[in-house]
Amino acid sequence: MAKAVKGCMNPECIANQEKSNFDLSYDHCPKCGLKLSYVCKDCRMELDDDTKKCCLRCESRRKDDREQMGKVIVGKLGVGAKALGDFAVDVGKKMTAIYDDFADDIKDRAEKKKQANADTKNTGDLSDNG
Ligand SMILES: [Zn+2]
Ligand SMILES: [Zn+2]
Repeated sequence: MAKAVKGCMNPECIANQEKSNFDLSYDHCPKCGLKLSYVCKDCRMELDDDTKKCCLRCESRRKDDREQMGKVIVGKLGVGAKALGDFAVDVGKKMTAIYDDFADDIKDRAEKKKQANADTKNTGDLSDNG
């Protein structure tokens, strides 16, 4: 199924500048009339025949990319799923703990505030009296 594409190699031509791909049924560029060449789909390098979509360099790079991508995705999914599970459990526990602390804290603060207000009032009274 690997079919080449054709491209215009004329550097002055808009089809070349826009990196247009032409169907193999085209022999000549519809824009400038120059004979079309088989080109690498990736880097637009001229190819000898229509058996490949990409030049050797791009083909091996694509293969590497695919393998690399596969590894990365598998790695991420594996680690991600586990981490996410742990994370959810952890957050669940923490939320409960935080809520308890928070409730206690509010109570504490309310008490302390009352106390602090009382202290301030007393001190204020004293200093006013000199
Ligand atoms: Zn052209
Ligand atoms: Zn290429």
